Amino acid sequence: MTAKILSGNIFAQQIKDEVAVGVEAFRHRHGKSPTLALVRVGEDSASAVYVASKVKTSAELGIVSEHVHLADSTSQAELLTVIDDLNSRDDVDGILVQLPLPTHIDEHLILERVSAEKDVDGFHPTNVGRLWQGANSLTPCTPAGVIEILKRAGISIAGANAVVIGRSNIVGKPMAGLLLKEGATVTVCHSRTRDLAAVASKADILVAAVGRAALINRDHIKDGAVVIDVGINNLSDEQSVRTMFEGEELERRLGAINSKGFTLVGDVNPKDAKAKASFFTPVPGGVGLLTVAMLMKNTLTAAERRRSANSK
Ligand code: NDP
Repeated sequence: MTAKILSGNIFAQQIKDEVAVGVEAFRHRHGKSPTLALVRVGEDSASAVYVASKVKTSAELGIVSEHVHLADSTSQAELLTVIDDLNSRDDVDGILVQLPLPTHIDEHLILERVSAEKDVDGFHPTNVGRLWQGANSLTPCTPAGVIEILKRAGISIAGANAVVIGRSNIVGKPMAGLLLKEGATVTVCHSRTRDLAAVASKADILVAAVGRAALINRDHIKDGAVVIDVGINNLSDEQSVRTMFEGEELERRLGAINSKGFTLVGDVNPKDAKAKASFFTPVPGGVGLLTVAMLMKNTLTAAERRRSANSK
């Protein structure tokens, strides 16, 4: 079997186009654009890149973004004050605190302080609880993006055996909750799971969110499974790369290692996925592209819900 590649680009563009239309309609109704506040503390270079991409996509879709960049030395109390201020501002619809935060700040405390109705990352305990109750909530962007990919590709979730590898609060757990909500029979695996391959190879839908290059190989993939690779890893070992790619793609990957010192790969061995799966998402070019699109969708949703709640 040669698996079909699920390109994140196509789905991300569809979502962004829909959000742009929704933003325009929102502006007509309410005389303002949805507004997203992005809070970044310190100088983490990856965080700077992520926030810049969120600012850029907001502008493309007509969402107003406000980038609050605070010094590394910002105290927890100061950050809480900033969040309180954003919570109280009527013009701010969504608040995102870019992670990771400096180690002197308690991440849980900060995420709990963001008002649940403005929590566009879906990390607030109220939104986590609502997700597990099957109620409407703001849901974490990456797993919500995975559900969008599955639905838009016409893959049926209800009744499927879904296996999620990884149990983080950001990806694994909400992924499991969303698949359950959609009617899948869900198993969650983690570092303590015995015989991962035996469990994973039962999956009709296999989601890998671990952070270990090519951990998932042909032994983990059932024939015809849908394989979703959330992992993002920098791989510099040429030997491993040779087991994952062939032909021109292999040459490109080796070239990247030569020039940059690494190539970006997922948690799944793509050569094996191509041979055994029915569909799989590539890295890069797969799930990652949906994350920012889903953040934009959450911002619009948060804005619409606040306005409709305020008008009742
Ligand atoms: P975490 O490190 O928080 O969680 C990793 C999970 O994998 C843990 O639950 C851990 O188990 C489990 N795990 C580790 N080793 C194994 C193993 N050998 N077998 C089975 N399970 C294992 O990572 P995140 O959830 O934040 O991210 C996962 C990956 O997804 C990363 O590569 C990250 O870069 C990527 N990512 C991609 C995004 C995107 O937009 N595409 C967004 C967010 C993340 P345990 O709990 O027992 O330790």
